[in-house]
Parts: sequence; C-alpha cells; structure tokens
Amino acid sequence: MLTRCQRPGRLGEIMRRALDRLSHETFDVLIVGGGITGICVARDAARRGLKVALVERGDFAAATSAHNSKLIHGGLRYLRNFELGLVRESLRERRIWQRIAPHLVHPLPFLVPLFGAGAKARATLAAGLTLYDVLSFDRGWLDDPKQRLPGHSWLSAADAKAREPILDRPDLDGAFLYYDAQMSSPERLALDCLIDADANGAAVANYVEAGHLLLRDGRVEGANVRDTTGNTSFNVRAKTTLVAAGPWADIFLAHAINRPPSHKLLRSKGIHVLVPSLTREFALTMATEHGHFFVLPWRGHTLLGTTDTAFTGDPDKVGVEERDIADFFAFINTHLPNARLSRDKAEFFYAGLRPLVDDGSGDTYGASRRAELVDHGKDDRLDGLFSAIGGKWTTSRHLAQQVVDRLVEKLGIQARKCDTATARLPDKTADVAGAVRDEMALTLEDVVMRRTGIGVFGPPPAETLDDVSRQMAAALGWSEEKRAAEIASLAHLYRTQDDA
Ligand SMILES: Cc1cc2nc3c(=O)[nH]c(=O)nc-3n(C[C@H](O)[C@H](O)[C@H](O)COP(=O)(O)OP(=O)(O)OC[C@H]3O[C@@H](n4cnc5c(N)ncnc54)[C@H](O)[C@@H]3O)c2cc1C
Repeated sequence: MLTRCQRPGRLGEIMRRALDRLSHETFDVLIVGGGITGICVARDAARRGLKVALVERGDFAAATSAHNSKLIHGGLRYLRNFELGLVRESLRERRIWQRIAPHLVHPLPFLVPLFGAGAKARATLAAGLTLYDVLSFDRGWLDDPKQRLPGHSWLSAADAKAREPILDRPDLDGAFLYYDAQMSSPERLALDCLIDADANGAAVANYVEAGHLLLRDGRVEGANVRDTTGNTSFNVRAKTTLVAAGPWADIFLAHAINRPPSHKLLRSKGIHVLVPSLTREFALTMATEHGHFFVLPWRGHTLLGTTDTAFTGDPDKVGVEERDIADFFAFINTHLPNARLSRDKAEFFYAGLRPLVDDGSGDTYGASRRAELVDHGKDDRLDGLFSAIGGKWTTSRHLAQQVVDRLVEKLGIQARKCDTATARLPDKTADVAGAVRDEMALTLEDVVMRRTGIGVFGPPPAETLDDVSRQMAAALGWSEEKRAAEIASLAHLYRTQDDA
C-alpha cells in the first residue's frame, strides 16, 4: 500500500535545486552526500513513496563516484579471500545495471595473460574463473543479446599475441578470456539515477553542505545546512538521517556530533591515468606479486588503474603527485614492457579515495569491499541516524535497497516494493543549455566534467571552453570576470599536486 504519494508524472524533465522545499518541509529521510550511494538511496526511497531530501556539498558524483576504474564488475580477485557472497552480489548487480542502463553500461572483454606462470598457477586461475562463471549463472538473462556475457575461455600464446600485440613477450604462456562490464560515464549514470529520484519527488540540491545535526532528546531530526552559493544556512527537518558521505563519513559525523563516532573508515588512495590507446579491443588484468593493475580500453583511450595505498591525510586534499605517475608507469612498464609509458603519454589523471570499512588489519588492498549500514541509535545513542559506508559502485543499488528497507522499518510505515532493479533509467544527452536549465549545473566544471564529459580526456581546447562558458554566462548572468575565473578554475583538474 502506498502511504505517501508525491508529484508523479514529472518525467524528470527539469531538475531544480529544491532549496525552498528543503527549508520548509519535513522529510522521511535526509540524505547527506550525493555520490552514487546517496543518489541510489534517494532514487529507491522516492520510488517507494518516501519523502526524500538529499544535499550534496559539491556537485553530484564529483568525488569517489567519478574517480574510479569505471567497472561494473563481479570482483574476480575477491574470490581469493573466499568472499563468495560479495562476488555473487556484484555479479547479480552487474546484470541489473546492464538491464536498467544499457545506454551507459556495456560488456568489456578481459584478457588475463600468464607469463611463465606454470601449470599450478594456470589451474588455480582456471578454477577461479570457472567459479566466477558459476556465480554469474544469470549473465545471459538479458533481453538484449549484445549485453549477454559469455563464459571464460583459454587463448594460446599465439592467439593472445595476435589479438593484443602488446602481450608479445617470449615467456607468454597464453591468456584467459573473461567478461565484465564498463560504464562509459559514471558521472552521467549517477545523474540519470538522480533525475529518476527527482522525477519521483525527491527534493535535491547540490552545493549545499550539511553541518551540525538537529538533536532533540537523543533523537536526530535532520541537520543544519549551508547553501554555499549564497552562504545562507537553514535547517532541513527529517524523521531519519542517512550519512552517505563516502570517505568523509566519519569526519562529517565527528564534527556533527562533536565526538568521535563509533565507526572509523579506512581510506585508500587509488590513481588512474588516461593514455592513448594501448590495446585493440581487450582490457587486461595484470596480476603481479604486488597486486594487480588494469589496462582498460575506454572511449578510444586507455585507462590505467589503479594503485592502492593507505591515505591518512585530509580527504579534501587528495590528488595525484608526479611521483604517483612515475612509480605507476615504472610498475606497468616492468610487467608490460611494450606499453613504453612515459610522462608525456599521460592525457589526464585523477585520484580517488576508497571508503573502506576498517577491519583493524590496516591492509587496504586486502580489506573487504563490502558495505555496512550503521545504526547510530544502537552504536552512538543517536536515534534516527544511519550511515552507509564502504561498498562499490557496482553494489550501490543493492546497498540502497537494504538501507531503504531499514528506513521503512524504522519509520514504521508501509511503502511500495523496491523496483529499482527493473525500472529503466532515463537516457538523456546534455547540451550546455539543458545542463544549466534542467540538470543543476552551476559551474563550468559541472558542465565540462559531469554533464557533457568534454573535459574527461584532458584539457578541452580553449575555443571550446570559450564557447561553453559564454553559453553558461548567458544562462546564469555571469560577468566577464566570473567567466574568466570559471575557465581559470579548471586548471587544477589537469595539474599534479607538485604544480599546485
Ligand atoms: C581508485 C578507485 C577505484 C574504484 N573502482 C571501482 C570500480 O571499478 N567499480 C566499482 O564498482 N567501484 C569502484 N570503486 C568504488 C566506488 O567508486 C565507491 O564505492 C563509490 O563511488 C562510493 O560512492 P559514495 O557515494 O559512497 O562516495 P562519494 O562518491 O565520495 O560521495 C560522497 C559525497 O558526500 C559528499 N559530502 C561529504 N560531506 C558532506 C557534507 N557535509 N554535506 C553534504 N555532502 C557531503 C561529498 O562531496 C561526496 O560527493 C573504486 C574506488 C576507488 C577510489
């Protein structure tokens, strides 16, 4: 039975910053953070009929949800830790993303080459891939035949070299071929989920930062927030509050409640570097004694990822250092000498922080990628407050489903059944005017990096920036100084921290 019915039928044509609604209404849930976790929760909860508020202090999906390997994958390597549940969950979710967002998620064939590895290593990998196939038994249950993924197979050395000449090494034994999936734009996919949430009545706004929590008799009743564009503050009132602040979750909570929260996060830095295309068709998973790396064909380029190092600094200051690139390229050149990577090949680079559940081991590579829903009513005596931490892009939809189940239980209401696994996402193309008018783009970076994606291959040409910024200036009433400042502010995206 539907208990709350909200503005159906807007069809997601226009999203506006819902500042008025945020400051006047009382919501079932306030979500702090507009990365893929918060966005998926907003989409699920709104579709079930809950009254949803979401605030994001920057732009949507501008943090970890943009700075990753762009894979929708089962996590083959988690089999090594026997995390069968996580792998099965990821494989099921992979198929769901393929089904609900075929415009942005597509199959990606991988080769795992073996070099002088010996029979035992080959047999172990064959067993792992067989298990991966078994756990993804439903990978063909998709209407579109192009989305159906075949099982794994073995290619001889000659065959593997013929398909990907970069693998040409005298000690190549051959390669396993298997399939996963890739997002052509995580930023757009997250936005499409948000457009769906908005169309189902969620009140959302970017550039609104949550500060202290509203507390009454041990109950959390929302948060005080600041609209950073106008520097005004107001309260958002809600019966439950969910922290979905990614790598900032524990830091936000420590500030918001004025004491350390019960759950700590482990942060792990990973960099990616975009270079001119290195392979013809296949992605490569290269397993080494110091972890694995990916060589990923992506929109006519190759995305190299990733590193995995514990990060203890300020998450606001994470970035790529020259040394990160030099060490990463040296590592790849050692294992894939035909890559011949040099600094001038780097077209674009970025760093992200994995928000991992701290298991006490301090080992970020080995730490589980599972997600956790924390009820701070139990753990911190803050009734009505929850945190969703850890997890993967791939499993964010399912995490959201579990979060909303818990919120519905807490609210003591009846809501519609979750339908996010079957409801197709909108497929929208952003042009500059539409991005400003309908998609809450407020800065040049929002348009260039996350609405149109013209800046994700390296610095766009000056004429393009001139043209885009003039269109934005016309729509948003920018002065010439503001327009110049917006262009200048993009420079940081293409500099290492050494140049900052
Ligand atoms: C290097 C790397 C590679 C990865 N590769 C993959 C991959 O290939 N496939 C995969 O499935 N997963 C991958 N992941 C994991 C995946 O990217 C993350 O699990 C996911 O993006 C986390 O999303 P999130 O919404 O929890 O966090 P975020 O995207 O970081 O969102 C949190 C948001 O909270 C906002 N926020 C913080 N404080 C406040 C506040 N006070 N008020 C309002 N808003 C606030 C932040 O601005 C931010 O936008 C990778 C991660 C990394 C780092």
